[in-house]
Amino acid sequence: MALLQISEPGMSPAPHQHKLAVGIDLGTTNSLVATVRSGMSTVLHDEHGHALLPSVVRYLSDTVVVGHEAQAAQSQDPVNTIVSVKRFMGRALHDITDRAHIPYHFVENDSSQGILELKTRAGLKSPVEISAEILKTLKLRAEKALGGELTGAVVTVPAYFDDAQRQATKDAARLAGLNVLRLLNEPTAAAVAYGLDNAAEGVYVIYDLGGGTFDVSILRLSKGVFEVLATNGDSALGGDDFDHRIYCWLLDQVRSKTADFKPLNEEDTRLLLTKSRQAKEWLTDNHEANILGKLNNGAFIDETLTVNQFVQLTEHLVSKTLTPTRKAMRDAGLSVEDIHGVVLVGGATRMPHIRHAVQAFFKQEPLTNLDPDKVVALGAAIQANVLAGNRSDDELLLLDVTPLSLGLETMGGLVEKVIPRNSTLPIARAQDFTTYKDGQTAMAIHVVQGERELVSDCRSLARFELRGIPPMAAGAARIRVTFQVDADGLLSVSAREQTSGVEANITVKPSYGLNEDQITAMLKDSFGAAESDKQARMLREAIVDAQRLAEAIQAALAEDGDKLLTATERETIQTHLDALLALCQGTDSQAVKQGTEALNHATEAFAAKRMDASVQKALTGKNLDSLEL
Ligand code: ADP
Ligand code: MG
Repeated sequence: MALLQISEPGMSPAPHQHKLAVGIDLGTTNSLVATVRSGMSTVLHDEHGHALLPSVVRYLSDTVVVGHEAQAAQSQDPVNTIVSVKRFMGRALHDITDRAHIPYHFVENDSSQGILELKTRAGLKSPVEISAEILKTLKLRAEKALGGELTGAVVTVPAYFDDAQRQATKDAARLAGLNVLRLLNEPTAAAVAYGLDNAAEGVYVIYDLGGGTFDVSILRLSKGVFEVLATNGDSALGGDDFDHRIYCWLLDQVRSKTADFKPLNEEDTRLLLTKSRQAKEWLTDNHEANILGKLNNGAFIDETLTVNQFVQLTEHLVSKTLTPTRKAMRDAGLSVEDIHGVVLVGGATRMPHIRHAVQAFFKQEPLTNLDPDKVVALGAAIQANVLAGNRSDDELLLLDVTPLSLGLETMGGLVEKVIPRNSTLPIARAQDFTTYKDGQTAMAIHVVQGERELVSDCRSLARFELRGIPPMAAGAARIRVTFQVDADGLLSVSAREQTSGVEANITVKPSYGLNEDQITAMLKDSFGAAESDKQARMLREAIVDAQRLAEAIQAALAEDGDKLLTATERETIQTHLDALLALCQGTDSQAVKQGTEALNHATEAFAAKRMDASVQKALTGKNLDSLEL
């Protein structure tokens, strides 16, 4: 029996105790866990020697099965076997557009702000709970392999994940009993795995083709800090599409050779898809693949697919990845000569024709000496090791960026950007705003995300109110609004009236997120709409100015009109005022400006008289000594 150790009073039990920290790649298709052991980042295996855990969760009535076993049951039990749950993280029902191809029964949960849930035989399950099952399995695997409780984990997320998706990932980790040290962008993790953070300076491209998604990111390393310059991708493009091309080809072959070919059932479809995936993976290292099998509908398969045929079948998919790649390069304002290195990530980048295409595009050989489906987990483990304090001497600082600008609604439905898109994280920015009306005691703060000038074209993230502002003249209050995005990409906003110290704040937790297509669409929109946005902004600004003047004049007329103006003077002002208000209904910003100018002009004498009157009033009853001159 081992003896228990007791430390001397006042001494810590083990001064250089190594903390157990892991990196987790929570993937759409496969998930992994890695850790740093004896200075080396290594992926941890399950008891059968598997490194990859298929991200598949099957609900039985009283147990949950995760990984290979669940994957094997997919065709028998599609409704209770959840694949690619990552696609639903932080999403509402209406965000899922291609529901027709998904076998699950979705339910919108009223009590959780439109977040979707899936109906399984074990009850309603949210994407957060389903992901937590995958994370629990990895946690257990790590604790077995490392022989102790984990101090913490770094969990990776795609660079384009928005606030809701990151929050959901964090929630899933917490639910799995993991202490999240940090959420880390997948491309950044891959760069860390390659030790690019030890390089001097440079710009790197991370090309990530997984099972169902394609992501390309451009990172800049300078002074030991990673900055994401641009991200792009295609959320419906991955290794699965290559499988599907083989599947269609197979079906054509079998159909043409089988008289009276009957439609496929669910199980046959699954079988053919699995055969197709195996053939694809085989062709990575071999010239041809033999595909053999028997379908439930009686048909036999005996086909040979050559590499050349496969390349032809899938060439368009390869070039499809280059469009987002080009866009990311353009967004970052870079040409291929600026790129110091290209990292391949994702199992599908093992295919030789993908490697050739990437090499031809960037005019350099990509980095491939680490397993492309493991690099993300390996990098996350390195980062976890640092964050757990195992390597405190050379701290590694990693920065990510905001995918879209964050701002506030101002008068006239305009957006004032506070944090511009692609700002490095963590970031805090403050901007001062003021009140619009005399005596205004509350201010509505509306936080929006997007590139457009008008609130109606951006995404609303949150609303809150700052109350208890001391009544002051319009424009006198100083309200400082601070936006803060932490290292995990989560936003909080606070507002403070500077003279009184009144404060309000909110952590932005939108009920559902933006998907990558929406982000791309919003960006595209903003590029295309720049000119019309400028016009719209000019008009709104002109109208806000006009209305502010009109309100001030109306108030002044009500107060002093009778005392200080003749009937004709008053009528002239009223005519200009009416004309201006009419112009505010139109769309001609120039005319509104001229109308404002005219009203200003027409009221100059009135303003001067009011000024005189108020000076007179202030002086009444006071001698010169009491005046501060
Ligand atoms: P994700 O990031 O979506 O979780 P992975 O990076 O694990 O996914 O990639 C999974 C994809 O990689 C699958 O489509 C799989 O078929 C493909 N893949 C794995 N190994 C190979 C290989 N040797 N050749 C071609 N494709 C492969
Ligand atoms: Mg991946």
